[in-house]
Amino acid sequence: MERLSNLFGLDREALRTLFAGLGEPAYRAQQAYSWLYEKRAASIDEMTDLPKALRERLAAGHAVRWPEVMERARSTDGTVKFLFELDDGATIESVFIPEERRRTICISTQAGCPLKCAFCLTGIGGYKRNLKTWEILGQVAVVMADAPPDHMPWNIVIMGMGEPLLNYEATVAALRILMDREGFAISPKKLTLSTVGILPALEKLMLEPVRPNLAISLHASNKALRRELMPIEDRYGIEEVIAAAQRYPIPSGGMVTYEYVVLGGVNDSPAHARELVRLLRGSKGKVNLIPLNPAPEIPFAPPTAQAVDAFCRILSEGDVTVSVRRPRGQDILAACGQLHLKREAAPAPVAS
Ligand code: SAH
Repeated sequence: MERLSNLFGLDREALRTLFAGLGEPAYRAQQAYSWLYEKRAASIDEMTDLPKALRERLAAGHAVRWPEVMERARSTDGTVKFLFELDDGATIESVFIPEERRRTICISTQAGCPLKCAFCLTGIGGYKRNLKTWEILGQVAVVMADAPPDHMPWNIVIMGMGEPLLNYEATVAALRILMDREGFAISPKKLTLSTVGILPALEKLMLEPVRPNLAISLHASNKALRRELMPIEDRYGIEEVIAAAQRYPIPSGGMVTYEYVVLGGVNDSPAHARELVRLLRGSKGKVNLIPLNPAPEIPFAPPTAQAVDAFCRILSEGDVTVSVRRPRGQDILAACGQLHLKREAAPAPVAS
């Protein structure tokens, strides 16, 4: 069966071209844009300020489609993990994380991940393909529509499956619509892209007129250790990545975040902490320590609470701003690095 072509994911210009092809003026395209991203209509039928005849003509060849939810798992801490099945059978995950003063959506940009970081379940599960713009943006639409109604601000992190800067075009197309005031209207300050630092793509992102916050997956205090944990270090080295991150224009003068997964007995000693202070000396940035979220397939252990405390203290005494990330949704494998392709390993879904 041939699928109708999806309106969701098209940018202004693509919509204008499409409407022009139907002999319609540009303002009709703008109305559709607003329905798709500002009001997040789930069907053409809902676009009630388009004349009925036009809606029917549109619907003959097009539809509004979001990714299909296959399972929803709810954590005891309120975190909800969404498992989506895409048209070709690829599966991806997104996470809804309710917090005290905000609610966060964590989205994926690839089905699986080719980077194979030693401690990350996504990489261990393999790589399937890049996501399309509508598949990236659609995760946000689905999670927002599913969330209980309240007025807490949204925060979006591109920290799910995959490396966003290896899927540059589709990711940036989604970012533009997310940050567009006439689109999802997410403030750039409330949107964070996390990357290992794919340098040519990072340079390109810096040139975008509107950019999100930046988080860099550092995870080591020197090149040799980072190489052991993250094969990408061979292509894009730790010092070059930090240098590029320092030039990245963070929204509203904020600071770049350096993520550091803390692995028990591997990168968590006081000597590593002191080395990290030296590595970041003179840089503007904050370190986010992420105690390893374990899984049976991950060949590392979490650090002790004492090791994290001591690490944290050395950084802050070294004038490095530091925070420790609290794990969310660990019981449903929704925490950082626990998203993966294989559905067999996922816990049983719960009704919601
Ligand atoms: N590829 C991008 C986007 C994924 S972000 C990146 O690496 O930045 C996911 C974050 O969770 C990264 O900082 C990643 O290194 C971290 N992470 C991966 N596995 C983890 C684990 N088992 N426990 C805690 N954090 C993990």
